[in-house]
Amino acid sequence: MIIDTHAHLNTEEYKDDLNEVLKRAQKNNVKKIIVIGMDEASNELAISLANEHDMLYATVGVHPGYVDHETTEHLESLVTKKKVVAIGECGIDLHWRQDNYDLQRSIFLEQIELAKRFKLPLVIHTRSSFEEAYQCLLPSKGKVTGVFHCFSSDLKDAKRAVELGFYIGIDGPITFKKAEELVEIVENIDLKHILVETDSPYLAPMPFRGKRNEPAYTKYVVEKIAEIKKISVADVMKQTTENAHVLFKLGGISS
Ligand SMILES: [Zn+2]
Repeated sequence: MIIDTHAHLNTEEYKDDLNEVLKRAQKNNVKKIIVIGMDEASNELAISLANEHDMLYATVGVHPGYVDHETTEHLESLVTKKKVVAIGECGIDLHWRQDNYDLQRSIFLEQIELAKRFKLPLVIHTRSSFEEAYQCLLPSKGKVTGVFHCFSSDLKDAKRAVELGFYIGIDGPITFKKAEELVEIVENIDLKHILVETDSPYLAPMPFRGKRNEPAYTKYVVEKIAEIKKISVADVMKQTTENAHVLFKLGGISS
C-alpha cells in the first residue's frame, strides 16, 4: 500500500474525472490520499471531498501564495472537522515573491501556533526559503511536527529538518534527470523520515513530466526511492506508509 501524502485533488483539473483518478490510484496501490488546502475555498472543498470518499483525508491552511487575500481566521472552525489531519499547506516562498515576506512570515507563524494548539502536524511549503521557515519553527522544537513537502534544499538542510523532528516529502522531481541533490538526500536520510507524495496536479514524474500529475503516479516516486536505496519496492511502501500513519494519525495501520 502507498499513501500519496500531498495532492491537490480540490482543483479544477479533477472536476470532470475525479472518480477515474481515484480508481487508477487504487489500481496502483495508492489506497489513501491527503488532499491539501491552500485557501478558504480549497480548504472547504478538501474537507467535503474527504467526507465523500473514504480514501481521502484533508488538510486546511493558507499557502504563502495566497496571503495577500486570505487570513487564518477561518481555520479555527475547520481544524476540528472530521478527517482534517494537518494544518497546511503553509510556509514561506521567496522564489515568487520577496516583497511580502513579513506578511508570509506572520501568517506562517499563526499556523504554527494553531498546529501546537490543536496538536496537528504542519504541511510546509518552502521555496528558496528553507532557512527562514526553519527559524520560524526552531522556537517550537519538540512541540510541533510535520513535513517539509516537496523538499528542495540540500542534504545539510534535510538533516536539520529531521533533527527538528520533521519528515522530508519526496515527489516527482526525484525521477528527473538533474536530481543529484535529491538523490543525495534520499541516499543519506533514513527511510523512517521520508514521505512520498505527488503534489498533483503539478510535478508529474517521468515519464509523464509536463502532463497533469495524479496520485497513481506516486508509484514512480516509490520505485525511484527503492532504486536509489537499493531496497525492495515493498520495503519502501511499507515504511513510508507507516510514516504517513504515524505523522497524520490516519488510523487502521495496514499494508
Ligand atoms: Zn502543494
